[in-house]
Amino acid sequence: MPIINPSQARPEYDVAIVGSGAGGGQMAYTLTMAGLKCVMLEAGRDYHTDDETAMFQRPDQAPLLGTPTPDKHFGFYDATIDGGWQVPGEPYTQASSKPEEQFWWWRARMLGGRTNHWGRISLRNGPYDFKPRSRDGLGFDWPVGYEDIAPYYTKVEMLIGVYGTNEGMENAPDSPPGVLLPPPRGRASELLTQKHARKVGVPVISIHRAVLSRLLDAETIPAKLHPGNPRAQKITADAMRARAACFWATHCGRGCNIRANYQSTTVHLPPALATGNLDIITNAHVREVTLGQDGRAGGVLFIDKKTGREERVKAKAVVLAASSGETVRILLNSKSAQFRNGLANRSGLVGKYIMDSVGTSVSGHVPALENLPPHNEDGAGGSHFYAPWWLCREQKAGRLDFARGYHIEMGGSRQMPGGHSPVPADLVRGAYGTKFKEEARRYYGSMVGFSCRGEMIPNEHSFADLDPQVKDKWGIPVLRWHWRWSDHELNMARHSVRTFSAIIEAMGGTVRTQPVKDGKDAIAPGGKIIHEVGGALMGDSPKQSVCNQWSQTWDVKNLFLCDASPFPSNADKNPTLSIMALAWRRGDYIIEQSRRGNL
Ligand SMILES: Cc1cc2nc3c(=O)[nH]c(=O)nc-3n(C[C@H](O)[C@H](O)[C@H](O)COP(=O)(O)OP(=O)(O)OC[C@H]3O[C@@H](n4cnc5c(N)ncnc54)[C@H](O)[C@@H]3O)c2cc1C
Ligand code: SF4
Repeated sequence: MPIINPSQARPEYDVAIVGSGAGGGQMAYTLTMAGLKCVMLEAGRDYHTDDETAMFQRPDQAPLLGTPTPDKHFGFYDATIDGGWQVPGEPYTQASSKPEEQFWWWRARMLGGRTNHWGRISLRNGPYDFKPRSRDGLGFDWPVGYEDIAPYYTKVEMLIGVYGTNEGMENAPDSPPGVLLPPPRGRASELLTQKHARKVGVPVISIHRAVLSRLLDAETIPAKLHPGNPRAQKITADAMRARAACFWATHCGRGCNIRANYQSTTVHLPPALATGNLDIITNAHVREVTLGQDGRAGGVLFIDKKTGREERVKAKAVVLAASSGETVRILLNSKSAQFRNGLANRSGLVGKYIMDSVGTSVSGHVPALENLPPHNEDGAGGSHFYAPWWLCREQKAGRLDFARGYHIEMGGSRQMPGGHSPVPADLVRGAYGTKFKEEARRYYGSMVGFSCRGEMIPNEHSFADLDPQVKDKWGIPVLRWHWRWSDHELNMARHSVRTFSAIIEAMGGTVRTQPVKDGKDAIAPGGKIIHEVGGALMGDSPKQSVCNQWSQTWDVKNLFLCDASPFPSNADKNPTLSIMALAWRRGDYIIEQSRRGNL
């Protein structure tokens, strides 16, 4: 992948994009297809999916059989080749010493960011998710509605390829006919869950994931994505033809060098580079956005991590897509006489209202899944089924003690084991030799697990500011996290674990997770679900938000935020498809402004 050094940068670009993950990748794709000259600054190193993706290695070929370690949290072969809960020399701090008031911050430092190993679950927000305050009086409405974003969800789904089904369920939108790729069949545990979850009222359907269950139609899709732009159509068609369909065998979390799943590095960046309109500078840690006398962003100042020197690039517009937390940090560190409290922060709201997803999990053992005949359930490298939030009406009628929904993700099958034993030690304890093998075969595939991914309501106690003392290895102030759940999230957590136990029991199984009385014992720490959104909310007025519906900051007109930092709420739907849909829409707006000479 062609990468330039800072000294090779053009004197000025149309747009400087900070970050190369879902938001930055989509923005680079959209802008370069329209002919804008862009430079992308990426703090991590270059990453070559073709020869660095550990797709076929077996656990026994890895140190410690590939078991997760602090620097390889998702196992030795995980696609995150740099980054994690801690990044050496780049600390973050907590305002409170209480664990329940702390935020776990996952940062990937590599080209493509977290998209190299994300779960690829790609759900559209529904109509209620854009107007939550209008429904229940809590949090904030978005300045856009589902109808504004729906065409962009469709475009993104067509470009990246998403499998799933249209089920017509409340607040879990369908895609237009023909857009979704065919879903894989359910695995044994998923089919059994589907059958028995009905008894407790939970609908289990095909999940939507960004995996090519068949080849994309390179003959027709590019013309739909780029009408009237034959060059963009050709480049997109070539990029689609360079992708293969999933061969149902490997862990998507290690990345996919046949380009069957979505990663920014395999889907967004290759066509963007093929336009000739994109320069990428890796190992470029952006410290601040530079500001001209005229109050407009002039470009960015960054540390070249290879030399330690400060460098600059100039651009007519700047897009921050460094992930919500890092975008907040860059804004707060971009201080000037005009913005003493951080750039675009006249509202004082930069860093406020950060959200994660509510996460809980329960596992169980289901005898009906024991001793299944050997069969391959590797599948699409992640879930095939899930349960969307099914109690919208009960909630609206006030019959639940929490205001928002959650969906259920599920696991458990006879997939190729990772670095851990797929059979819990206590079930085979005392067995040796042939008996041990029989017991292992009996229990392999009989464990099920359910996870909650639920909506957190933004609150004023969950935010990030700059630590007044601590700096990173380049002397840049670091983020300090403040965190608190409200009763809505804790009650949701309790409801979810009860539901999961009921499903396991309906399957004739036994719950193996320790029972919990309270939501606070069940809920994962803030940040742990790695769905951090918010911190620079979009809204209708400069006093009550940081940016407008185009994620254009109110205070600096040529500065745009393109990750999840502008999200006014964090629906139970995993955020990345929405990040990309909004990025495409903002990209179209930037292109229009550029044509009018407003950049
Ligand atoms: C294990 C895991 C599973 C997940 N599963 C799902 C899922 O199934 N569905 C879903 O929707 N989401 C999922 N997510 C979340 C998803 O990965 C993120 O929502 C998405 O990647 C966010 O995109 P982004 O562009 O905002 O940030 P990122 O993808 O994190 O990209 C940000 C980039 O900016 C760079 N950067 C940061 N700071 C600077 C700086 N100062 N200067 C220059 N560059 C900088 C980073 O190095 C990084 O490359 C998962 C995440 C993880 C870790
Ligand atoms: S399961 Fe399919 S999409 Fe996932 S890494 Fe393997 S081949 Fe690629």
